Amino acid sequence: MTTPTATLDAGLPDGRLLIAGDWRSGTGAELESINPFDGSLNRTFAGASPDDVDEAVTRGREAMDEPAWRDLLPHERARYLHRVADHIEDRVDRIAAIQTADTGKTLTETAALARSAAGTFRYFAAVLEVAEDTLTPRRGDFLTMSVHEPLGVIAAITPWNSPIASDAQKVAPALAAGNAVVLKPASWAPLVALELAAIVDAAGLPAGLFSVLPGSGRETGEAIIEHPLVRRISFTGGTTTGRHIADVAARRLIPTSLELGGKSPTVVFADADVDQAIAGVLFGIFSSQGQSCIAGSRLFVETSMHDEFVERLAAATDDLVLGDPTVPGVQLGPLVHFDHRLDVERYIAAGVDEGGRVVSGGARPTGPPFDAGAFLSPTILTGVDNASAVCQEEIFGPVLVTLPFDDEDDLVAQANDSVYGLAAGIWTADYRRAWRVARRIDAGTVWINTYKQFSISTPFGGTKDSGWGREKGVAGIRQYQHQKSLYWGMDPSPHAWAAPHRGDGDGPSRPEGTREGRTS
Ligand code: NDP
Repeated sequence: MTTPTATLDAGLPDGRLLIAGDWRSGTGAELESINPFDGSLNRTFAGASPDDVDEAVTRGREAMDEPAWRDLLPHERARYLHRVADHIEDRVDRIAAIQTADTGKTLTETAALARSAAGTFRYFAAVLEVAEDTLTPRRGDFLTMSVHEPLGVIAAITPWNSPIASDAQKVAPALAAGNAVVLKPASWAPLVALELAAIVDAAGLPAGLFSVLPGSGRETGEAIIEHPLVRRISFTGGTTTGRHIADVAARRLIPTSLELGGKSPTVVFADADVDQAIAGVLFGIFSSQGQSCIAGSRLFVETSMHDEFVERLAAATDDLVLGDPTVPGVQLGPLVHFDHRLDVERYIAAGVDEGGRVVSGGARPTGPPFDAGAFLSPTILTGVDNASAVCQEEIFGPVLVTLPFDDEDDLVAQANDSVYGLAAGIWTADYRRAWRVARRIDAGTVWINTYKQFSISTPFGGTKDSGWGREKGVAGIRQYQHQKSLYWGMDPSPHAWAAPHRGDGDGPSRPEGTREGRTS
């Protein structure tokens, strides 16, 4: 156990890392966290080097094998998770402030993410109370059981858009399952993971069981995924990185789960409640400045009402409030990084080149406070073909494309014409149609007359290039365990195979079908 650290004091984490149970500076390349609201520097600090990774992973393996952790009963391990949740809840404001400084998300949203992280730790604490090992049906004079064991050191690699929530989604079930964890946050938003380190440390988990290793994907991330003691990679991020991680995991024969990108269709039928649909579409694409894997970034509207709906939507978009993300009532802050804004702007220009018409936004807002920050107005492009880059590629910013559709078949064909399959939304008053369409769309999650709602008790993940595996839900803990089968012999006599030969001819005379001979 280490001493709770200075990083629990007010202000931003001081840049020391929790490595193998010690708070110290990393020995890797320097990282820079900037506040995208005004470009000011939050912190520069040294990230984790490959040597730091090796130390953290090696110590993690030792810590999980120590009786203080290994021998805990499930309900005892649950207490640690509840303590982490308590600390998160006590520090919601602080966590929200750190995350807003790092990402530019509004405080309302980052506070909600912090509360959801606490809920995730509590949920997996509760799962520990009910997750059962099983006694399987008998097939002989033995009892058979299937029990669950931890895998080893888990690599949790997360993106920058909702750090505390995506960190918790991996760390909570992995610890609940009895593993050690090394967490690598994204380089653009590393600070809140250091706060989580301080919280886990303060909750009294065995020293070294949890390390936080910020650093570049190229150096720190590679060292983690290639480390021989890492026994599972739980990854959330872009599809290109996910594909590389899947390659490494396949070569190393270790399991992985991949929560990847999306280009999610939102569908509005002509019978939908228009006010509700407009609010849902706006929230689905423009909350988090569109930097959300599940952003409803392709809007399909029934042809008969497409133009009218888009006109109203554009007017509502023009009314959204951009500004300082710490001010209540602001709906959109800046994008996460100035470089990211350039990428999003390139997509808008490409959409226009491909024949798209900007009906809202399309440019940076000007004047104070916008000039200093990575702001971009929420943008709607219409008149683009579903085959165009802006309709097919994940922009990960506040850009919505609109497309008309004629009927259900046309809609399903267009919606599924995508490499992604993460999420979808349907707005209609006809529940039978909602059922039909929801079942036909390629997506891991479909929202009907709502969008972007989340529950830790409901599995989440994608299909196609949006990834594989499911997080959350009671079964979420099983991703971090392997099954072991136990056979308990109940026959007190010696095994018949080894009994003295009793036949009077040349060959064996043991009758077939005896208990001893059955193997399946
Ligand atoms: P990236 O794939 O670029 O990075 C994700 C994480 O992987 C970062 O921590 C990154 O480090 C790390 N990484 C990069 N290269 C390697 C490597 N070779 N080995 C190990 N780790 C590596 O994604 P972004 O951070 O840009 O996040 C945006 C993406 O995440 C979007 O595509 C979005 O859709 C997806 N996402 C998916 C979600 C889902 O649940 N399906 C949820 C949220 C986001 P570094 O930052 O240093 O590059």
